Amino acid sequence: MAVGGAGAPESGRSLADLEIEFVRSSRRRRTVSARVQGNRLIVQVPAGLAPSEEQEWAERLGSRILRAQRRRTLNSDRDLERRAQELNARYFAGRLRVADIRYVTNQNGRFGSCSPGRATIRIADRVAAMPTWVRDAVLVHELAHLEEANHSARFWKLANAYPLMERARGYLMAVGLDDGSDGSDGAE
Ligand SMILES: [Zn+2]
Repeated sequence: MAVGGAGAPESGRSLADLEIEFVRSSRRRRTVSARVQGNRLIVQVPAGLAPSEEQEWAERLGSRILRAQRRRTLNSDRDLERRAQELNARYFAGRLRVADIRYVTNQNGRFGSCSPGRATIRIADRVAAMPTWVRDAVLVHELAHLEEANHSARFWKLANAYPLMERARGYLMAVGLDDGSDGSDGAE
């Protein structure tokens, strides 16, 4: 995945791409576990579960594994960090300190979040598949929160240094990721 690069990344494998295989343990084991091997999702379940329960476990554990794989893939090349530093240099004169920035898969409808106190930024994995100029806008938005926690006039003055900010907000609104508030720690 390249934030500044050309192609949008694959959205990753979904559960439907995997063949589910149940291993039923006859021992009195109450734990359920799962692993992905090639294109198979192997789910170990205690014997005696209803098929619908087995299926539920497969879906729950399988999607958790796929999300973790997706996070690893997206964060493996540290491109997000590199891009954030480029934008820091260009729009904030390089004065921001970012302790940690990474993609996450649990933003639940938000495009990102920032904890100014800890100098950490989280970006929704959905953003990875968006055009570069939108991703940059999201990064600048969260970077601006490092200096201004609230969506104040001062915040927008910082954020709007990025020339396509308004257009990017329109884009994010259209895909349902901008309701005017992201997950930043606002009042902190
Ligand atoms: Zn915000």
